Amino acid sequence: MILEMEPNASQEDVEFVIKRAQGLGLTVHVSRQGERTVISVFGNTRGLDPTALAGLRGVRGLRQLSRPFRLASREYKPEPTLVRVGDCTVGGKAVVVMAGPCSVESYDQLRRTAEAVQEAGAAILRGGAFKPRSSPYSWQGLAERGLEILARVREETGLLVLTEVLAPEQVALVSRYADILQIGTRNMQNFPLLHAVGESGKPAVLKRGMMSTVEEWLLSAEYILSHGNEKLILCERGIRTFETYTRNTLDINAVPLLKELTHLPVIVDPSHATGKASLVPAVSLAAVAAGADGLLVEVHPDPERAASDGFQSLSLEQFRGTMEQLRLVARSVGRAMDARAPRGDHD
Ligand code: PEP
Ligand code: MN
Repeated sequence: MILEMEPNASQEDVEFVIKRAQGLGLTVHVSRQGERTVISVFGNTRGLDPTALAGLRGVRGLRQLSRPFRLASREYKPEPTLVRVGDCTVGGKAVVVMAGPCSVESYDQLRRTAEAVQEAGAAILRGGAFKPRSSPYSWQGLAERGLEILARVREETGLLVLTEVLAPEQVALVSRYADILQIGTRNMQNFPLLHAVGESGKPAVLKRGMMSTVEEWLLSAEYILSHGNEKLILCERGIRTFETYTRNTLDINAVPLLKELTHLPVIVDPSHATGKASLVPAVSLAAVAAGADGLLVEVHPDPERAASDGFQSLSLEQFRGTMEQLRLVARSVGRAMDARAPRGDHD
């Protein structure tokens, strides 16, 4: 249940409500949304006399949430969340493009890709250092050496960097090098990892589990939010269906659906959704037309020789062309593509 405080409620009023709720055996999460203080109350509220809390001084009203996810819901927070990463905002007017290789393979590979994607208008460089591969015999990534390469290219180009974290004990290490932590599809329900990313307070992208419902996904988001991290971005990356001509099936429904259900920004990964570079441009355009706040795209200077996911990676040239088309679609749906604030214009 949600208790909304009067805009002029005092700190004392807020603390009194918190104490009373805790005294009833409930857990409390407090957030300030502009002028309002909102107190979210978790636990067994069945049988609770609503006036026990709603009648307290400073409480404007009490709302029951209709869904099992709470902090992620629009009911809890009606206005969209803007996730600020450096001078870049995800969830605002601009469509934020995150692009780069599936895996960091070498300094030269990453630097070349970074320059090309930056030139084409991407704001964030992606690249995996710890790779979650289905087979233990496949390339597993450069690990910390990959993170060092990412950090060097970040320094040299000014691009922000996103990379995957596989385990809770890696969160501190990866956070030292990356601007955004990625939680991959296979780890969407790795609860200790969600907990650790929640506590890290680092901007994070939570990919949808390849066999997870939207509700399960939002409950995973809830783990991160309830551990204190509101800098969370959801990424639809395709789900498993009976179709075999594509690697996954992009659930395009999820984009406008999540806009109804949650205040969190939503991005789309057309590369893992399709598994085919030839399909990535069209699916990217569709995602932006459907309201995605950003894209996560695999790009490689020599896709045929990529260590992982080459068949779904765009070449530098293909990426440039896709960005040009994206600009037109973004404009036609009232979005911009200049995700990064001009120098001096960020907080
Ligand atoms: C990736 O981004 O390279 C990746 C492994 O993604 P996913 O978790 O969506 O498969
Ligand atoms: Mn990949």
